[in-house]
Order: sequence, then structure tokens, then C-alpha cells
Amino acid sequence: MIEFRQTTKSFGDHVVLQPTELSVKSGEVAVIIGPSGSGKSTMLRCVNALEKINGGDLLVNGISVLGSPADVRQIRRQAGMVFQQFNLFPNLTALQNVMFGSIRVKKYSKSEAQEVAETLLGKVGLFERKNHYPSQLSGGQQQRVAIARALAVQPRLMLFDEPTSALDPELRQEVMKVMQTLATEGMTMMVVTHEMHFARQVGSRLIFMEDGRVIHDGEPAALLSSPPSERFHNFLRHVQ
Ligand code: ADP
Ligand code: MG
Repeated sequence: MIEFRQTTKSFGDHVVLQPTELSVKSGEVAVIIGPSGSGKSTMLRCVNALEKINGGDLLVNGISVLGSPADVRQIRRQAGMVFQQFNLFPNLTALQNVMFGSIRVKKYSKSEAQEVAETLLGKVGLFERKNHYPSQLSGGQQQRVAIARALAVQPRLMLFDEPTSALDPELRQEVMKVMQTLATEGMTMMVVTHEMHFARQVGSRLIFMEDGRVIHDGEPAALLSSPPSERFHNFLRHVQ
């Protein structure tokens, strides 16, 4: 579903992603961890072509991010993204936020979009709050609306960039639970998070990055129970 082929990304002469080989299969949940500035967000942003790669290639469901504008549009449609900051439209209700993308991208009629949005809000446990504005929702609820909004265009894969980092600990769980459900249903996911419990329970892969490189890539429980490097071991002490 996602294939990095010697992919590189630089900003000016600062190489942020060293030549990277990585593939994520359909239905896999790849959890990405690593120190701040190691290139985790950039990696995700390259997948849905929010950043343009400088070298190698990167295929999403067989389509290259270096392809035509139509190819790039198709990739963006197939890859839903959820950010640390929920980025909901403050002047739209939860329902309108979820409907927005599917009307614009999927060309749904208003009633089709509303039906899909209501189903998705139910799925994330917020059907009763559908007419609330973001300011009337908790951070955890806003993030669940953001997930529903990303799902409304029926993506083939989901990219999560520290989706719970802006939330109080007691609200993180409700967002993680929604993500766990998605994973159980077979959604392909790349998740940047420092929630090690999620990595262990839900991740099919754990990827440790440092200085723009994939340092370790393996089965989460195995990596966590016997860290293969001193650096990884020290990193884990800080996040756990
Ligand atoms: P992480 O998500 O692991 O914290 P990022 O991918 O955000 O790391 O950043 C990796 C490196 O790329 C950092 O050194 C950051 O300063 C740099 N960087 C990210 N985005 C930009 C940008 N738009 N312009 C210049 N440098 C950037
Ligand atoms: Mg980041």
C-alpha cells in the first residue's frame, strides 16, 4: 500500500529524510516513534504529497507521488490524515465538518453526505453531538470528529501524526479506542505516536527513527521487550 524506494527529502541543504526503504502492506499498522526532529512528520507528509520528495520514489497504492497532478489528487483522496491539532472549521458543526470533505471530494449530494457523516459520527461515538460546534466539544471529541472527517472520503489508508499529543491523558484513551477499532477493521495505518501501549497492542510494526533514518523496524513486542540498541533503550526510558 505504501512503498518508500530510496526516498529522500531535503529542505535546502538540510537532509531530513535519508534514503529510505520501507513498505507498509495493506491492513498493517506501522507505528513510528523517534526523537523530535527525526523526520517522522515529514515522512507522513511525503506519503500524501504534502511535501515533495527530492529523490527516489514513493508509491501509494501503486501510484507515484511524482506522478501527474491527477495522480497526486488520487493519492490525497486515498490517504486520510489526522494531525496533532484537530484543524476543524470553528464555524461549522461536527456534522458539517464531516460532510465538508465528502461533498467537495466525493461529489456527494447533501443528503448522501449527511447520511455518511451521521454514520461516521456514530462510529466515533458522537452522533448525539452532531450539532455541536468545535468550541462546545472536548479535545478528545474534536479529534474524533477530525477522524470521522478524514474517513468521510473513504480513504484506503490513514496517516496519524501525534493524534493524542495535544490531549489531556484522560481524553487520549477515547481517541486511541477509535483508532484501535479502525485497525481491527483492517485499515492500513501509519501512526506517529509515543503511546507505547498502543504500539504494543495495535501496531503490527514499530519503526524507530533518528536523524532522518529508519534505525529499527520490527515486531513491537519484540523490540520493546529487548531493545536492540542503547539509543532506542534510552529513548524508551523517556517516553514510557
Ligand atoms: P519530527 O516530526 O520527527 O519531529 P519533522 O519531520 O517535523 O520531525 O522535522 C524533521 C526536520 O525537518 C527538522 O529538523 C525540522 O526542523 C525540519 N523541517 C520540517 N519541516 C520543514 C520545513 N517546512 N522547512 C524547513 N525545515 C523543515
Ligand atoms: Mg512531528
